[in-house]
Amino acid sequence: MTKHYVAEPYKIKVIEPISVTTKAERERFIAEAGYNTFLLRSNQCMIDLLTDSGTTAMSDNQWAGMMLGDEAYAGSRNFLHLQEVVREYYGFRHIVPTHQGRGAENLLSMIMIKPGDCVPGNMYFTTTRAHQERNGATFVDIIVDEAHDSQLDLPFKGNVDLSKLERLIAEVGAERIPYLCLAVTVNLAGGQPVSMANMRAVHKLCAAHGIKVMYDATRCIENAYFIKTREEGYADVTIAAILKEMMSYADGCTMSGKKDCLVNIGGFLCMNDEELYQKASELVVLFEGMPSYGGMAGRDMEAMARGIVESVDYNYIHHRVAQCRYLADKLDEAGIPVVKPTGGHAVFIDARAFLPHVAQDRFPAQTLAAELYVESGVRAMERGIVSAGRNRETGDHHRPKLELVRLTLPRRVYTYAHLDTVAEACIAVYKRRGRIAGLEMIHEPKVLRFFTARFQPLVDLAKTKARQPADIEKDDVSAQYRPAVLR
Ligand SMILES: *Cc1c(COP(=O)(O)O)cnc(C)c1O
Repeated sequence: MTKHYVAEPYKIKVIEPISVTTKAERERFIAEAGYNTFLLRSNQCMIDLLTDSGTTAMSDNQWAGMMLGDEAYAGSRNFLHLQEVVREYYGFRHIVPTHQGRGAENLLSMIMIKPGDCVPGNMYFTTTRAHQERNGATFVDIIVDEAHDSQLDLPFKGNVDLSKLERLIAEVGAERIPYLCLAVTVNLAGGQPVSMANMRAVHKLCAAHGIKVMYDATRCIENAYFIKTREEGYADVTIAAILKEMMSYADGCTMSGKKDCLVNIGGFLCMNDEELYQKASELVVLFEGMPSYGGMAGRDMEAMARGIVESVDYNYIHHRVAQCRYLADKLDEAGIPVVKPTGGHAVFIDARAFLPHVAQDRFPAQTLAAELYVESGVRAMERGIVSAGRNRETGDHHRPKLELVRLTLPRRVYTYAHLDTVAEACIAVYKRRGRIAGLEMIHEPKVLRFFTARFQPLVDLAKTKARQPADIEKDDVSAQYRPAVLR
């Protein structure tokens, strides 16, 4: 059966050349970057799939809006437009603009959390959890167990396990749970969505205990698309109507505009509660800017308002998800282990299954991302033990079950031909996977270490004899590796 992937629903009006490098150059670049793809320069990358955050190509309509920026210090007309659009599409009463998503997370965490609180969530996100912990809360994961299994092909692996939530409420008491943070979709589970039925049930249970539900709405359009295509009763409902219903089961949200609002910078915090809004308006002045710009220029707010309208267009989101599926299908056909089902913003390679001979303490996903870059100039990122950081009490690594490399697709930037190149690179690395040894961390920042940590490669002592893929399942041979001298 031939699979169908819808063509790009846009045509190219402006182009940006990409740099072509040699393998020898890339070996040098990755060594200089401490084997951390975050530390590469973008002009050293040929296809940059590091992130979908802020890497969107804006439309001609958004660029036209940029010229209409009203850069007044207070009361900019672009804020009023943004407020109107957010009210219409997201349905919340109040919007506080912020410089990006974590600005909104900072405000929300400061306003709602007291030391000793618990904040349940459907798997953590790096900045979200860091802000919760900074304000004295403990994050508690209440996602369904299936989310931790990369091979279970289920439609809504982002769902909350309601019995885990009930147990937590019984254990700590509702008064110690200021809000539940529901991510739609779940980035670290592979972009997995939450069903409408689950949102409804979470809202009902929380409301019964007086617990607020705050969404991390960062990829809510992708979530809405999966509801439309996977959940019974929504096939004929528009993306806009699904989005509105989703948001009706929340008391507010944080938003990284750099993702589903189709802009390069910006974010916002929303809520219905008057008192929370007053507190947020006071704090935003301290950390972001006036409540009518919150760290964004007028032109940025205009681009975001227009981006929100474009984001609910079915053709846009249908193509975006098809691109992810296209890349995942290519890898899958080559036998490369990818997270299933494919999410809406990225394809995740299961690095543990790809490199079963590399122990988690040797950073298999970090290693694979570095190898992929050397192979072809494709930049990906680690989502595994490095991203997970350390346990504050024990000082040990958090050891997530999922050890993934994320190939993240910027919105409206690359074509299917680029994705062919990415797939070829992955396949080439897969063929020589037996010779890949792992890394050792030589510099570890305390907070959000994955951004700037540095590594050095471990060399295979039996380098002269390449290990065959068939051998590598047998044992954990990482103990045989020792650190190489840093080049
Ligand atoms: C990107 C992201 C954030 C943080 O947003 P920024 O705009 O990068 O500050 C929060 N949650 C999720 C799920 C994200 O992907």
